[in-house]
Amino acid sequence: MTPALVIEAPRAVVDGQEQGCTVLVRDGRIAGVEELGARLDAGRRVRLDDDVVLLPGLVDTHVHCNDPGRAHWEGFEHATRAAAAGGVTTIVDMPLNSVPPTVDVAALSAKRSAAEGRCFVDVAFWGGAVPGNVRDLRPLWDAGVLGFKCFLVDSGVAEFAALDEAGLRRAAEAVASFGGLLLVHAEDPDSLLPTPSGNDYAWFAASRPPEAEVVAVEAVVAASTATGCRVHVVHLAAAAALPVVRAAHDAGVPVTAETCPHYLTLTASDAPDGDAAFKCCPPLRDEINRDGLWAGLLDGTLGMVVSDHSPCPAELKATGPGGLADAWGGVSSLQLGLAATWTEARKRGHALADVVRWMATAPADRADLWHKGRIAEGADADLCVLAPDETFVVDPVRLEHRHPVTPYAGRTLRGVVRQTWLSGQPVDLQAPARGRLLRRGGPR
Ligand SMILES: [Zn+2]
Repeated sequence: MTPALVIEAPRAVVDGQEQGCTVLVRDGRIAGVEELGARLDAGRRVRLDDDVVLLPGLVDTHVHCNDPGRAHWEGFEHATRAAAAGGVTTIVDMPLNSVPPTVDVAALSAKRSAAEGRCFVDVAFWGGAVPGNVRDLRPLWDAGVLGFKCFLVDSGVAEFAALDEAGLRRAAEAVASFGGLLLVHAEDPDSLLPTPSGNDYAWFAASRPPEAEVVAVEAVVAASTATGCRVHVVHLAAAAALPVVRAAHDAGVPVTAETCPHYLTLTASDAPDGDAAFKCCPPLRDEINRDGLWAGLLDGTLGMVVSDHSPCPAELKATGPGGLADAWGGVSSLQLGLAATWTEARKRGHALADVVRWMATAPADRADLWHKGRIAEGADADLCVLAPDETFVVDPVRLEHRHPVTPYAGRTLRGVVRQTWLSGQPVDLQAPARGRLLRRGGPR
């Protein structure tokens, strides 16, 4: 048994509010949380300054590591370095953009081999639901994935096909049969317009209208209602779809939804002409829409904020003769999600405890990672020491992301991560990687 450690934090987010506390850490876990000034025996003692707040490490359930197969787009090492630098201590890897995609147990094993020994934070995995793999879902669940991601629209990569409405029902039925969770990229293909050529972001955004999300979220709610499957809408971007989610909540349908830092902080008009760093699907929309998403967070229709970190090499973000249509869609923000969200949340009068609920506790709960995302007895001692009032200017080349491409370049953000702790020890990016591969129900 390693000697216990005591962290004295004049400011911390515990039990949903900011308060002083003393955290007792033993064997990588939180062994107790007492009031500040409590006398606890310990081999080692750390006293935090008054200008920082101790948070639980963030849990980002929407990260594309693209590894194996497209590791040159990001990879586990870069992704988890960026996560640690951004105060994120657990990521859940998306099943696509890697080759193979995580659609059967062999592909999950390939993921685990690629990730083994290279992760600076803890990593869990989503499986994928694609046409023809219904029989693979249960074995993947038994092998430890936390749930299954599917698309209703072209995913952008040929090896991860979309489900049609019948396919969605079959997947939902199968996942419901073992009590799993189905994640859906909810845009309706028939509501999309051809992607226009040109560099004007507003044109691109107009080709993926809010109605595409509304129609798709309705289909998701219908599938959940019909099958009883727990369903989660990823990266909801259209405020117009919120009433559909709210009605489902009122009716007791087990549907939840997330949004992302970029939809909460940026709008289509922030994107300079032809700058594909801002290109994502669904697209950024207008200010009224952004206000609507904040209202959705406030009333609980949206439960969580996760990055949808989806990087690629700079060449693939270059616009050709077709303009934005030629560029890969995906925003890189894993290292910046906390600061971006906190910057905007603070302006809008939200507390740091709200951000912790959206970015740590709620995602952990949705992914059944009950030992993550909270400073509480029994949880893993994964922590983030944040200077909430300090600002910095985003310089992409100083990020840990593999490629220096991000829509936040040059922006001043508030909230500097001073230190990230994993399993009771500060993460050291110069030392060997200590992150564990998690499976449903615990490590390994
Ligand atoms: Zn994604």
